[in-house]
Amino acid sequence: AAAEIGVIGLGVMGANLALNIADNGYHVAVFNRTAARTEEFAAAAGSLGDRVTACATLEDFVAAIRPPRPVIIMVKAGEPVDQQIAALKPLLEANDIIIDAGNANFRDTMRRFTDLDGSGLTFIGMGVSGGEEGARHGPSIMVGGAEEAWNRVEPVLTAISAKYQGEPCAAWLGENGAGHFVKTIHNGIEYADMQMIAEVYGVMRDHLSMDAETIAAVFSAWSTGPLDSYLIDITADVLMVHDAATGRPIVDVIVDAAGQKGTGRWSVIESQMMGVPATAIEAAVAARSLSAMRAERAKAHKRFGVPGQQNRREGQLVVDDLEKALLAGKVAAYAQGFAVMAAASREFGWNLPMATIARIWRAGCIIRSRFLDEIATAFTETPDVENLVLSPAFSSMLVETDPYLRRIVAEAALNGLPVPALAGALGYFDTYRRERGTANLIQAQRDFFGAHGFERLDADGEHHGPWGGQG
Ligand code: NDP
Repeated sequence: AAAEIGVIGLGVMGANLALNIADNGYHVAVFNRTAARTEEFAAAAGSLGDRVTACATLEDFVAAIRPPRPVIIMVKAGEPVDQQIAALKPLLEANDIIIDAGNANFRDTMRRFTDLDGSGLTFIGMGVSGGEEGARHGPSIMVGGAEEAWNRVEPVLTAISAKYQGEPCAAWLGENGAGHFVKTIHNGIEYADMQMIAEVYGVMRDHLSMDAETIAAVFSAWSTGPLDSYLIDITADVLMVHDAATGRPIVDVIVDAAGQKGTGRWSVIESQMMGVPATAIEAAVAARSLSAMRAERAKAHKRFGVPGQQNRREGQLVVDDLEKALLAGKVAAYAQGFAVMAAASREFGWNLPMATIARIWRAGCIIRSRFLDEIATAFTETPDVENLVLSPAFSSMLVETDPYLRRIVAEAALNGLPVPALAGALGYFDTYRRERGTANLIQAQRDFFGAHGFERLDADGEHHGPWGGQG
């Protein structure tokens, strides 16, 4: 057996990951359910073909790898992963490592750890981000499992990972589901990031009447400032591309209904289960769901029109304000994502290393940015900070940008421009930073109708209101 590692699943991600592995000098065995795809892959491997063993059967695949075998499964998430594990199990030997590298729900990952317990096989749940390009030339890699298992696969995983100023963007983050959980939250933040970018695009398109190319120039300018990130870069790029058939900007002919596969929704579900607010991510997931209701939206448009047209206040919004508002929104989205991870870390006993997570997101992944380097620094300097916005650097950033977020959200509201994620970010800040909130009234209502009791500011213990028999 010549191969040092195996990859099952030669779809977009698996094929590129396998080439990346070969490119880094490792001999890799590959297998795909549909054999034609394996043959295509082998034929296209070119000069890397010497380090690729393409296998037509799972038996050949396992035999081609030197024990103890690391086997990466990169197939469609869900049931296909269970099927692959079941098919592999009888063929593998003690100490072999099964690595699920797809976008698994971490609860499935937790179950798979339990299922494989006592089998002699080792399991790793690994989040991979960076899309096709990342998989081929260096993704961000988030590993969950036994530390001992990580130690065995660390050389190959760090070799294929993205590098940020020479530092590999691959790390062991904790036991069992830690890697897939962190990947899920990465995607939740990605949803919020993308949504907020789309919201400011909407303000420029629908309120400032800017065309795609002019908007592209704005994003392009932003990409050299504090918003410098992959998502801002590609936004500028896609806005510049024209459709061959119509000659129009391609974005103007694309249907305004966004797809989603689950990770954003899972981020929200998990944050809700732990009682940690993630308003920007929630708004982003809801916005995708609303976007998909096209026919209904068309009806509502006819019925209600676009609000605010009568008090349209041209010229109140300036593009520079949008940049700072977006930065403030981004602070909220990331603060929320990291707060959800902190809560999960406590709940599942993972001890998630926040600074390391920010560090391995600085390159390779979809949310890579200069901003993440600042987050890594903040968590290194103040590792125990309760919330990112309370760290000195992000407090300052928020103080500076918050007035712009406020102005944009206010103007958007007056003009009927939907900015739900930015508004969610603002609502979060305004609630978070107010010492005396309004939940005293909620507690009074709860006690009135359900005798739930409340605490008093001036006395210990549980109290009930003098509702005089009305409650
Ligand atoms: P593709 O759709 O390109 O490929 C899917 C792969 O899964 C194919 O190899 C397919 O085999 C295999 N497969 C599907 N069903 C089964 C099954 N029942 N048994 C065995 N194999 C099966 O997917 P991607 O490469 O995009 O995604 C793979 C994983 O990576 C997913 O979990 C995805 O969420 C995740 N991911 C994707 C990213 C992306 O940007 N695309 C980024 C990060 C993670 P066959 O050829 O036989 O159909």
